[in-house]
Amino acid sequence: MALIVKKFGGSSVANSERILNVARIVLESYKEGHSVVVVVSAQGDTTDELIEKAREINTKPSKREMDVLLSAGEQISMALLAMAIEKEGYPVISLTGYQAGIMTDSNYGSARIKSIDTERIFRELDKKNIVIVAGFQGWNRYEDITTLGRGGSDTTAVALAAALKADLCEIYTDVDGIYTADPKIVPDAAKLDDISYDEMLELASLGANVLHTRSVEIAKKYNVNLVVRSSFNNSPGTIIKEVGKVEKMLVRGVAKDDNVARIAVIGVEDKPGVAFKLFSLLAKENISVDLIIQSIGRNGKTDISFIISKENLDKTLEVLNSNIDVIGAEEIRHSDKYSKVSIVGAGMVNNPGVAATMFEALFDADVNIHMITTSEIKISVLVDVKDSVRAVNAIHEKFRLAELGSGGK
Ligand code: ASP
Ligand code: MG
Repeated sequence: MALIVKKFGGSSVANSERILNVARIVLESYKEGHSVVVVVSAQGDTTDELIEKAREINTKPSKREMDVLLSAGEQISMALLAMAIEKEGYPVISLTGYQAGIMTDSNYGSARIKSIDTERIFRELDKKNIVIVAGFQGWNRYEDITTLGRGGSDTTAVALAAALKADLCEIYTDVDGIYTADPKIVPDAAKLDDISYDEMLELASLGANVLHTRSVEIAKKYNVNLVVRSSFNNSPGTIIKEVGKVEKMLVRGVAKDDNVARIAVIGVEDKPGVAFKLFSLLAKENISVDLIIQSIGRNGKTDISFIISKENLDKTLEVLNSNIDVIGAEEIRHSDKYSKVSIVGAGMVNNPGVAATMFEALFDADVNIHMITTSEIKISVLVDVKDSVRAVNAIHEKFRLAELGSGGK
């Protein structure tokens, strides 16, 4: 019999009826004789509502107290689900992150799991209990509650699956799996039967809002058998595994991220050490940068542009403007009217034509490209935000991604 970790997201436990439905899904596996560990998110918009409540009281609460507050959402879900299972007459126990032995660092609000002491969970499984664990939370060496960052319940589930050496980790959500593009903006986006860890990692970090990026990193590192599927129907979902159908498929998905801002550092000296100074200032503040471009020097001066995520804009401007003399720049410019559009596919590495095809699609759709970056498995371009939906559709169409679905191979 297998050990299975099942994670249910906020929409899957949004109300009592859905919790009863989740209980049914869990019991189906349990009755087949499997050991089942369930990870739950907070119900519906609970986390957003808690953030709003905090704001009404104090606009700058400490991160520690914020984590105490936000961890409450998952605890509501776990108790309600346990009650739903009790009602059916099956043995069940719910555990907080602390009780489940999930140890994190002390980065309140975006803590990383350091270790999991699985003793308690195994003890409960030995007693034939269904074990429900609160997602998104752990505890640190000060015995404080920590949370893992928005969307972090996925990471709880995958980390538990790795620590428990589970046979399978199923992420239940409100979509059928991983799509070639966001079906909300590309109507004929196709559901993929499988995708590689690396492709999924890129898609997750490029704005495909299905899995927490960190969860995919852990799945890849520990080779977790991972499936994304819907809690609303029985469709088989998407399997995330070591190798996709790389030979056949060049491009597997297209994503856009509107949450970006461009910074241009104008008129720095064209000499060794300038980029180092600039980016180490940002690294010190934990600000990640992407799509870096340095222009061709003229009269000993050059410009460096890059993009950051919007929430880091204020901080970035503050750091750069207060160090403008250290960097030796004439001026710092910024704009947040851009979108980053990316294609992902492990098969594109040996195919120089892929970039040209992407640019042709953008040209046909009359979309101007501001910046370009490529890696072995992705190409990203910066475009005007007003063009982004058109760009995604044009690329999806050009690479005929709709044909990648189960129906069309
Ligand atoms: N409830 C948390 C959030 O909304 C964690 C999660 O749902 O994964 O971000
Ligand atoms: Mg989520």
